[in-house]
Amino acid sequence: MEVTPNHTQTVAGWAAMNESGKVEPFVFKRRENGVDDVTIKVQYCGMCHTDLHFIQNDWGITMYPLVPGHEITGVVTKVGSNVSGFRVGDRVGVGCIAASCLYCDHCRRSEENYCDKVTLTYNGVFWDGSVTYGGYSRMLVAHKRFLVRVPDTLPLDAAAPLLCAGITVYSPMKHHGMLRSPGGSLGVVGLGGLGHVAVKFAKAFGLRVTVISTSPAKEKEAKERLGADHFVVSTDQKQMQAMERSLDYVIDTVSAKHSLGPILELLKVNGKLVLVAAPDQPVELPSFPLIFGKRTVSGSMTGGMKETQEMLDLCGKHNITCDIELVSTDGINEALARLARNDVRYRFVIDIAGDSNSKL
Ligand code: NAP
Ligand code: ZN
Repeated sequence: MEVTPNHTQTVAGWAAMNESGKVEPFVFKRRENGVDDVTIKVQYCGMCHTDLHFIQNDWGITMYPLVPGHEITGVVTKVGSNVSGFRVGDRVGVGCIAASCLYCDHCRRSEENYCDKVTLTYNGVFWDGSVTYGGYSRMLVAHKRFLVRVPDTLPLDAAAPLLCAGITVYSPMKHHGMLRSPGGSLGVVGLGGLGHVAVKFAKAFGLRVTVISTSPAKEKEAKERLGADHFVVSTDQKQMQAMERSLDYVIDTVSAKHSLGPILELLKVNGKLVLVAAPDQPVELPSFPLIFGKRTVSGSMTGGMKETQEMLDLCGKHNITCDIELVSTDGINEALARLARNDVRYRFVIDIAGDSNSKL
């Protein structure tokens, strides 16, 4: 990629220094704004469970200091001379990807997320050898290819989680034809950041939605606020058995180790389960519910850039935003602790620029 290797700009952010599960103020350098780059004043950054996995080194791949954050919205402050689509003042978003090769078959099809040279927005190794730092920071330099527009109708805070949670569920829903199956039935396992957006997309496209949750307290909101048709408590065997062979599709967003067996039983014959969650331990995949129902299990990782823009435009059209709890930069550690104990409705978003009256 034709971007400058000169890391000359000083930026204030928040970083995890070790596996303690906390972040602290951290000053670091970003590259100068190259000809293909756009500089953004970060306004908001969503707190994805992936941030927590990385902060705690759940997957054993964290490079400290780690500046997390890949659900970033903000305003353009600088554009390089090769950039035509963006202007100073534009409302933009950055998701999970900082760079890819731009030339392989996947990149040509705008499946940059599946490029084998993909560099993630944080904890990635950039082409010049530097480690990428994410959106828990006041300013970001992005290559123009990895930047999207936030429609004017969407608020920058409640739109921020669409950059990861939104595209991560939208992409497999589109790929597996769910968005063209009005009347079809979808089960959403785990009603957190990803799960609650999946419910909203599914309802916007006319699917019948069953939430499968460990939290009975979420039932009322799931139905009344998010529009879910059914709610099943996954630890209640009777409720689970009553739902067997009833669903066309399932999206699994459970961040902790679990068995896919009882979930697969909920699928009709030939039903499809998409695993987007990334627990630190392998999930259990018993063969009987697979073979007796000719069922399919697949995975999916975020989405490509064209698809991300398409998803945001659809959200603008259907007025889909995330249900968020706004967090001040002083409240990040408290929010991380609450995220770890599954106490969030349904996404924390950090008010990086401090423009709003954050509650935490
Ligand atoms: P989240 O907001 O914490 O939601 C996860 C949900 O899983 C919780 O709300 C909870 O739902 C359920 N859950 C949590 N602990 C559980 C346990 N011990 N047993 C059963 N259920 C449990 O997380 P998120 O941000 O949506 O992310 C979910 C997962 O997707 C994470 O592993 C994350 O790393 C991964 N992810 C993957 C991609 C990708 O590209 N594939 C992108 C983003 C995130 P209930 O209370 O309803 O049970
Ligand atoms: Zn994420």
